[in-house]
Amino acid sequence: MADNINSNKPKKKIGFYWIYIILIAFFLGSIIFSGTNSAKETSMTELTKMLKEQDVAKIELVNGKTAEIYLNEQGMRKYFPNENAPKFGVSPNYTLNTTESRLYAKVDEAQEGLSNPIEITPVERHNWGAEIVSWVLPLALIVVLWIVIMRRMGGGANAGGGQIFSIGKSKAQLYDQEKDNKTTFKDVAGLEEAKEEVMEIVDFLKNPGRYTRLGGKIPKGVLLVGPPGTGKTLLAKSVAGEANVPFFSISGSDFVEMFVGVGASRVRDLFKQAKEKSPCIIFIDEIDAIGRARGKNIMSGGNDERESTLNQLLTEMDGFGTNSGVIVLAATNRADILDKALMRAGRFDRQIYVELPDLNGRREIFEVHMRGLKLGKDVDKEFLAKQTPGFSGADIANVCNEAALIAARKNKDNIEKQDFLDAIDRIVGGLEKKNSVITQSEKKVIAYHEAGHATTSWMLEHAHPLVKVTIVPRGKALGAAWYLPDERQITTKEQMYHEMIATLGGRAAEQIIFGQISTGALNDLEKVSKQAHAMVMYYGLDEKIGNVSYYDSTGQQDYSFQKPFSEKTAEKIDAEVSKLIESAYQEALKILNENKEGLTKLAEKLIDKEVIFTDDLVAIFGERPWKQEERTFTKRKEEEPEGQTLNPENTSIA
Ligand code: ADP
Repeated sequence: MADNINSNKPKKKIGFYWIYIILIAFFLGSIIFSGTNSAKETSMTELTKMLKEQDVAKIELVNGKTAEIYLNEQGMRKYFPNENAPKFGVSPNYTLNTTESRLYAKVDEAQEGLSNPIEITPVERHNWGAEIVSWVLPLALIVVLWIVIMRRMGGGANAGGGQIFSIGKSKAQLYDQEKDNKTTFKDVAGLEEAKEEVMEIVDFLKNPGRYTRLGGKIPKGVLLVGPPGTGKTLLAKSVAGEANVPFFSISGSDFVEMFVGVGASRVRDLFKQAKEKSPCIIFIDEIDAIGRARGKNIMSGGNDERESTLNQLLTEMDGFGTNSGVIVLAATNRADILDKALMRAGRFDRQIYVELPDLNGRREIFEVHMRGLKLGKDVDKEFLAKQTPGFSGADIANVCNEAALIAARKNKDNIEKQDFLDAIDRIVGGLEKKNSVITQSEKKVIAYHEAGHATTSWMLEHAHPLVKVTIVPRGKALGAAWYLPDERQITTKEQMYHEMIATLGGRAAEQIIFGQISTGALNDLEKVSKQAHAMVMYYGLDEKIGNVSYYDSTGQQDYSFQKPFSEKTAEKIDAEVSKLIESAYQEALKILNENKEGLTKLAEKLIDKEVIFTDDLVAIFGERPWKQEERTFTKRKEEEPEGQTLNPENTSIA
């Protein structure tokens, strides 16, 4: 953004520097004044001589250790005949460092027999300047050191200096609608339901009178819940843009500092600033950093600081009247761990779910992000949306950008379909490693492994059909198979089972062809084990365990110490899980044995071409008898299963 107004620029900065200046002036002044005594140092012999000749007017013994000698007129004429001499009788002419007893003895001795001997006057004198400096200096040093340390610590990315006074200030960034690029609903693709819900807030910010006139209350807080990159920030910004109000953006972790009380003070400051700019929107990203349920963490003794920050937030949200025009939007991807007090009516009483985009949503997001791109004729948004299941809005934005970079690297005039596909591959699988060292025999194993996946998934009705297989290593994977998953909302037991078989197809192929298995299947085994566990323990899909789920959507149970089932059940679960995986493996072996010829052909082709597509599979095995069901994207809300996050992964890389 062009003009982010950094809210914590301290205005007191100049005033603060005065303290430095005064300190330095004081220090220098005291040194100068303490050094004004310009009397010459003399010796005891000299003094004895002066006394004997009666040149001395008086002697003062300062603090019992320095004798200050004042000459009389006769002495002045003798010792300071020129004009530059110190003034007669005003300041001492000579000084002498000695001890009290020695001075008295010597003075008495020198004046023995004289008619009017000089008396020594003892004087107590304090050099206040020097004394003050001696204790102010260390203090000042400590203060300066403290300031330096505070600056280092408080000096985050947007700290502008003078943090000692602004450590309790909020670090929120202010986007001003007039100055910055405006984000509106046009920039947010999909998310129709969410947009509808926030529309009301826009309306309130625009005409608050319409609602308050009837005594209605407008929500103070709206919680946006959803996985990262799905456009929560974007949505909040567009609300501010539509309503044409200022927008404060801050992350939950910005409240946290190593000092006690800073978080609460930052919350107070944020709301104070917001009220000054009202009507406006405060956006708190990652609110779970402070909004986590209180008093859970018994192990670590509880985090009091976070609690007091949260308490302050709760109080502030209660504190401002409904018509003060400050609306808090907060984002999190873990609504389940938030403190219940945060969600009660009058605080974040609305929750808007921002899900990963579906096919239509993805197409629209592609449209938004392709606006500024020079596209080739063959770019088909519909097709690209189909190729990117499970992608978030941020991923799609990334694909578009990456595609533009790839096309630029190839010196093309516009971005073509292939550039987009390359970008998708790269984002899913990481960078191709064209020259990593793989021996011929390893290549063969990888080829058969991937061909195993491809064959089994082709032969099973509910496994995701294959789009592409490659044995070019990418990222950490040695080979990869791309599938076109059904975007299902509900998965049946059979579907999950078929997916497991396809996942185990790689290892099964190795077993059949080479008679031995390898470590290459780690990823597959991990995936299958997790899936089997989920089937047995969470989804209640196992006959022996029955319709029981040990899933805890609130995330409040800590199963690491105490399991919600008995030892006996634990044994049963283990047995069922391994039975499930074993039977899936046997099934995979069976399918591959039946299609050994096709498998070999496919693997050979893969070794030869390194990348194969659906067409190659059709050429070998013929068309699949099952068609993928066409999905109509109706608005669905109610029947959304709670454990959404547990749904089997959409995009698979084997
Ligand atoms: P979140 O806050 O949910 O983590 P952001 O709002 O920061 O995600 O999204 C990051 C980027 O992803 C946005 O800047 C935008 O470019 C893109 N994006 C995400 N969702 C959408 C969407 N629905 N429409 C258009 N762009 C989107």
